[in-house]
Amino acid sequence: MVKNINESIESVSKSTLNEDFPEHTLNGKTCYNAESCFALNRKHGLHTNEKIDDTLLSYLNTCKREITMEIPLRKDDGTLLPVKAYRVQHNNTRGPFKGGIRYHQNVDLAEVRAMANLMTWKTALVDIPFGGAKGGVAIDPKTLSEHELRRLTKALVSHLGDNIGPHIDIPAPDVNTNQQVMAWIFDEYAKSHQSTSPLAVVTGKPVELGGCSAREEATGRGVAIMLREHCRYRNKDVRNLKVAVQGFGNVGYYAAKIIHEELGATIVGVSNAMGAVYNGSGIDIEDLKLYESKVSDSFKGYSRATEVPRDSILVCDCDVLIPAALAHAITKEVALITPATLVIEAANAPTTAEANEILFEKGVFIVPSILANAGGVIVSYFEWTQNLQQYYWEHERLVAELDKRMVKAFNEVVTVMEEKKIGSRQAAYYIALEKVAAAALLRGF
Ligand code: NAD
Repeated sequence: MVKNINESIESVSKSTLNEDFPEHTLNGKTCYNAESCFALNRKHGLHTNEKIDDTLLSYLNTCKREITMEIPLRKDDGTLLPVKAYRVQHNNTRGPFKGGIRYHQNVDLAEVRAMANLMTWKTALVDIPFGGAKGGVAIDPKTLSEHELRRLTKALVSHLGDNIGPHIDIPAPDVNTNQQVMAWIFDEYAKSHQSTSPLAVVTGKPVELGGCSAREEATGRGVAIMLREHCRYRNKDVRNLKVAVQGFGNVGYYAAKIIHEELGATIVGVSNAMGAVYNGSGIDIEDLKLYESKVSDSFKGYSRATEVPRDSILVCDCDVLIPAALAHAITKEVALITPATLVIEAANAPTTAEANEILFEKGVFIVPSILANAGGVIVSYFEWTQNLQQYYWEHERLVAELDKRMVKAFNEVVTVMEEKKIGSRQAAYYIALEKVAAAALLRGF
């Protein structure tokens, strides 16, 4: 049932599927990112406001500010390590810049720029009063001690200076950063900004420091809500669905847990950077997480599921595929093979342009990342407003408000899809662009 992806690709290349999808080139039927969606919207004459023209689109696709830093990190052994770091502020037309900070050895300016751009459209789509930004530090945090990680994070904040702030730019967690890192960011910022509600400079903080109890699970919960709403829309029983999840970190774990425990779907496959497991009858997510954290971070020896090659999870027998790791996981090859009829993009930009086109041709429904993983920034918004007001909501209210906003955004996307007869990604970007463009025009751009 689960093959190595290389074997699967080989067998597909010999099958009729290959004839159905010959050397696939972008034929312009669908769109992949903000730029291509806007071009397609314009081609189809979707924007009725004539002021939404090429000049405005080009302005809205350009990053407002890009900060490149070289941070000197004094290691525990006394050596000095220069570390590259970036903060890209894409757009703040609708409110302060907002976006996560990622620590990963492969981070570069182009990636941070692309992710900052996504944030602008995501915050607009789900209607929260922020713009878009992203940060990245080119380091593998697993190679650092806790002291080194803290020193690096605090040095990052001092390098950023007044380019971040509660009403300027508000960072949050992303890949390899967590509540502890956010607490250090707050602490360093607060040392020099005591009179400006410094708690609101960063979201995703621990509850003890003004964080929201629902923030940790928020992105995964949003992904689960998208599955539930898709089933409602398509009249499907979620309990009959088999789900595969790539990535078992913050987003993948909570998405899998909530889908399994609250929605009752069957999680058949899970992978992380080190390995993967498959069980057609279902995987107990809590049990697997415990095993990953206590026994083997590659799931090696896990007896309640079969160990399979890591990337085979992307093409395993499932109805729903949830990429929740890094960008570009769903390649052309994966798109050709996967039997999934629904892809929920929990990670940012997990589908390549070619794969996007193939999935579209196959009739696969894609919940685009600017919608699918918006749960995190929605609860970050709740955290930020509560920090500014010093009035805190209970967990149940946070979860209910998150649910309400995700459902509203999903319904808006589906309505535009049906009205304009366009794909889900194009519909999501259409809505987001209309909101940012309206704000920009009202402000006199
Ligand atoms: P994380 O660091 O907590 O987890 C990442 C997971 O992906 C880990 O389990 C890691 O082992 C796994 N992984 C890495 N490479 C892999 C590979 N090649 N195959 C399989 N698994 C692999 O990160 P996260 O916060 O869960 O973020 C995941 C994605 O979601 C990223 O694209 C991020 O930008 C996006 N995202 C996160 C949030 C958030 O609130 N954390 C919000 C919006 C979007």
